Order: sequence, then C-alpha cells, then structure tokens
Amino acid sequence: MRSKDFKVTPELKRKINRLAKIVGVKLNWYRGCGIQWNGTTIACKGQDASNIIHDIAHFAVATKKERVALDFGLGPGPDIYTEIKSLYGLPKCLKVEHKASALGIYWEKQLGFNWQSTAMYHAWEGLDLEKAWVKYNKTINKYKGI
Ligand SMILES: [Zn+2]
Repeated sequence: MRSKDFKVTPELKRKINRLAKIVGVKLNWYRGCGIQWNGTTIACKGQDASNIIHDIAHFAVATKKERVALDFGLGPGPDIYTEIKSLYGLPKCLKVEHKASALGIYWEKQLGFNWQSTAMYHAWEGLDLEKAWVKYNKTINKYKGI
C-alpha cells in the first residue's frame, strides 16, 4: 500500500467499478496477488486504488491479441512481464508501460485522486506527463466521461 490516499474505500471502489465498466474490463475483488490479469479479470484484492486504475489502463491500451496473454502489462514491475516479453521486446514494453501510466494518472486526476503522488511514483517529471496526455489524447478521448 503506497499511501492512505489510495486505500480502497467504498467510495473509491464505486469510482473504480464505474471506470472498469466504461472501459469494459471485469474486476475481481476476491482474487488476490499472483496473476494480476488472468485473461478474464483483474485481481483487486489487496491492491491499492492507484494500482487497480493502472491495471485498467493497461487493459484499455491493450490489443485483442494482448488481452489473451496472462498478465499482459500487469504486475508489480517491468521485470515480471514474462508474457508481454514473449510478445514484444523491452522497448515496446516500455512504450506500453508509458502509455498505460499516463492514461491511469489522467483518470486519477479526473476521479479526484492524488494523481500527483502517482506521477511521482511513476517517475514522471515536469511537463512530460502533460505532453504524454496530448500524445495519447485519442485514447483518452475514447473513454470520455470517466
Ligand atoms: Zn504497468
């Protein structure tokens, strides 16, 4: 748990469930760590709100082919992305991570979370994040109304 700001309260859970519904991904609040994405649901038990939103962002930016790969882009860190690494090399993995990070933080901002804390945690600096939001605005606009 990174911060008390991201503890899943009933209110945050409602916001996260709504976000997942808009994106079209299923969450499992009873399945815990191990495999974050099992091809069907995102494991939420024990995760903080920011991590769950980040995982929803990974689903949002994934292709159909990627969505059937276990733990596609999901998990605690880039070194654990065995499935995604079997699909792509590291540069592409980092690109996917960059996009999912930017999208998740954008949603955190929309939902009233402490997004600046996540931006620091994901090592965004200065205007880079705002530039990324411009760069990925097609994806951001796809999920308007978050
Ligand atoms: Zn990620």
